[in-house]
Amino acid sequence: MQRTIMGEDHELFRASVKEFFAREVIPHHDGWEDAGLVPRELFTKAGAAGLIGMQIPEAFGGGGVDDFRFNAIVGEEAAAAGVASAGLSITLHNDICLPYFLDFTSDEQKQRWLPGIASGELITAVAMTEPGAGSDLAGIATTAVRDGDHYVVNGSKTFITNGINADLVVTAVKTDPSQRHAGVSLLVIERDMEGFERGRNLKKIGLKAQDTAELSFTDVRVPVENLLGEEGQGFRILTSNLAQERLSIAITGVAAARAAISWTLDYVGERTAFGTPVGSFQNTKFELAECDAQVTVAQEFVDRCVVDLNAGTLAVADAARAKLVCTRLQNDVIDRCLQLFGGYGYMLEYPIAKAFADARISTIYGGTSEVMKLIIAKDLGL
Ligand SMILES: Cc1cc2nc3c(=O)[nH]c(=O)nc-3n(C[C@H](O)[C@H](O)[C@H](O)COP(=O)(O)OP(=O)(O)OC[C@H]3O[C@@H](n4cnc5c(N)ncnc54)[C@H](O)[C@@H]3O)c2cc1C
Repeated sequence: MQRTIMGEDHELFRASVKEFFAREVIPHHDGWEDAGLVPRELFTKAGAAGLIGMQIPEAFGGGGVDDFRFNAIVGEEAAAAGVASAGLSITLHNDICLPYFLDFTSDEQKQRWLPGIASGELITAVAMTEPGAGSDLAGIATTAVRDGDHYVVNGSKTFITNGINADLVVTAVKTDPSQRHAGVSLLVIERDMEGFERGRNLKKIGLKAQDTAELSFTDVRVPVENLLGEEGQGFRILTSNLAQERLSIAITGVAAARAAISWTLDYVGERTAFGTPVGSFQNTKFELAECDAQVTVAQEFVDRCVVDLNAGTLAVADAARAKLVCTRLQNDVIDRCLQLFGGYGYMLEYPIAKAFADARISTIYGGTSEVMKLIIAKDLGL
């Protein structure tokens, strides 16, 4: 089925993204996996190539185009190239962090941060999760106590994507610990602020070139000018951005499943068993046919969500539906495809093996599948 949401501009952009990944990422990705993070230059090179900050107004150095289809293409091409870690570094910056800086900043904050975000010189992260609170965001324990023109921040965060590389960390804090949701505020904590330390770059089963880190804050004095929105609005702001975050993860999920099918089609055409290509067995045909049918249908729903997001009408529950179904599909399709590779599918030199490990997180981060079901159930009136 022909996708209908992409126009000529998008396909031209896709070609340049594909070329960027082939030139700047694929040859280096194994080394970045060994190092446990991507180099900071990935961001500046991506910025120079127009892969970052497409929505940022031109006056601040961005692309000036408010169209999430361009964001989708970056995530899709990273999945197709088998470089999910590098892809996540960029999509987190573009799809997940940027909306905070575009939609909840004053003019002064925009002047201060947007040019660096657009060029890739300022790398962003969002820090909600803590050792003691993930799904239950209102249960965070990091505090920010007002002291004159500053907040004094104490606490710790964990599992923070881009955590080692980040210059600007959108940090969920409690400005009123006596409240749950109404006590949450968002502060931008900057790289060199005294008392802000990086902990471990955590070892993971997949996404190995992605820095997922612990952060700690000890009496960090954060100027009040670094508050996003108003005090106590943090939960509302986070919730308003989560639909886009979840759609971004769903888009990547469908693209990763599609890539797995394509690698498998190549493999089963070449590999022989019992004197015949593996692709000639009825089981192989049925497995790939079923995977393809499911991915084709999922793509349509995700594309519709992109259209809704562009129109400003994407419902939180629809983004949850997309994430729930597409991330499960991603894991299922990659697992079934890996099976068709036999033992080679377990070897990390094959992209299918890395995709298998990279995929596992997708049903957990950005809100777990169980949390997605709670949102959908609420939408059903339950
Ligand atoms: C690689 C990676 C990158 C990440 N990046 C970031 C990041 O950049 N920023 C950030 O802030 N966080 C990030 N996270 C954290 C991620 O969002 C959380 O791990 C996730 O939200 C789940 O929280 P938790 O780990 O505390 O699990 P818990 O909340 O402790 O959940 C444990 C289990 O209980 C289930 N559960 C919880 N509540 C309910 C309920 N009410 N009903 C039914 N089941 C429930 C969950 O679904 C899960 O199965 C990242 C995590 C990883 C692993």
